[in-house]
Amino acid sequence: MGLEESLPSGILLTTVEKLAGYGRAGSMWPATFGLACCSIEMMSTGGPRYDLARFGMEVFRGSPRHADLMIVAGRVSQKMAPIVRQIYDQMPNPKFVLAMGVCASSGGMFNNYAIVQGVDHIVPVDVYLPGCPPRPEMLLDAIMQIHEKSRQTKLGINRQNQITELEEAALVA
Ligand code: SF4
Repeated sequence: MGLEESLPSGILLTTVEKLAGYGRAGSMWPATFGLACCSIEMMSTGGPRYDLARFGMEVFRGSPRHADLMIVAGRVSQKMAPIVRQIYDQMPNPKFVLAMGVCASSGGMFNNYAIVQGVDHIVPVDVYLPGCPPRPEMLLDAIMQIHEKSRQTKLGINRQNQITELEEAALVA
């Protein structure tokens, strides 16, 4: 019996996927933007006290094409919504979204016509982080959850299906 037949099917791909996931989670680069007060805590997380660099994440990228994590730090105004979506669309797959704070997660205290009631109306969200604002320790914990999800992501998976579902929902509404 040859080596190919004696190995469980998919063993090679599984191992490559694990290696790719390990590398992806250890060098995640967030897109550089902050929308409101939550972004002050996000900046603090990148500073020496909380030291985001421990996780290979000190490089916040100026171009979305170099980023694989979007941290939505603050409330999203209706005017800003198409720009947030455009940034998301420009990020390469696989990509992840963290809704930081109650405003990004659900609109928070800004229950009015000017604010999007949760950024998941615009982009698919992987982790919702409560708090107003969440402390840097909470953001680090949420980032660790994104890392775990990133490690589990299979090669070749992209978010196109989820985007299509969101767009369909928007069309129905
Ligand atoms: Fe500001 Fe609180 Fe909203 Fe964050 S959750 S953007 S700190 S009001």
